[in-house]
Amino acid sequence: METELDFTIARRRMVVEQLASRGITDERILDAFGRVPRHLFVDPAIGNRAYDDCSFPIGYAQTISQPYIQALMIQHLGVGPRDKVLEIGTGSGYQTAVLSLLCREVFSVERIGALSKKAAEILGRIDTGRIRLRINDGSSGWQFYSPYDRIIVSAVMNARPDHLIEQLADKGTLIAPVDSGSECLVLYKKLDGKFNEQRLAPCSFVPLLKGVE
Ligand code: SAH
Repeated sequence: METELDFTIARRRMVVEQLASRGITDERILDAFGRVPRHLFVDPAIGNRAYDDCSFPIGYAQTISQPYIQALMIQHLGVGPRDKVLEIGTGSGYQTAVLSLLCREVFSVERIGALSKKAAEILGRIDTGRIRLRINDGSSGWQFYSPYDRIIVSAVMNARPDHLIEQLADKGTLIAPVDSGSECLVLYKKLDGKFNEQRLAPCSFVPLLKGVE
């Protein structure tokens, strides 16, 4: 059985060896990843390995993404302390916790009710910023609280996320894995009602699915 100290050491190593050494330079992001207890968001049997350089199953055929990919997406997104952030795909809630330490409020949508409830329970036990969770199909965002300064999608889309871009504030950015022949992380920036798109890197995510379970 690991102790709290073991987890703290594993978390520090993750930040240095997987994030800082690969170009995650934003101190606020490194600090947030250094604070969130990732081991609580995975099966307890995984223990210390929760901080390994990989993704893990979280049930319901879903996964918690590799820390580096999450940090890379958040760094490209450029989250500021006053930002309202929309996250599609709460999953375990781990990334929700990290984001909440970086911005004003996170609005996170998950289509699998059981995952969202479990995430809510864990998020309620740790220190986070402001978070609102919703069980719904997030393909069309969360209109009620829009516009958002930043939007992050954690499941692969098969077309440009037009509905989500509509919910982006001016000067807002959105990052999503998009499959248009091959899977790629794409960054969209909105300015004066127009947006531009930048393809960043190949990636591999679980699919964005329709409906609620
Ligand atoms: N960032 C998460 C990883 C989640 S994996 C973490 O840190 O754990 C992607 C998640 O997106 C899954 O939980 C999946 O159920 C969810 N998802 C897939 N399609 C969705 C949709 N249309 N609306 C909301 N969530 C969706």
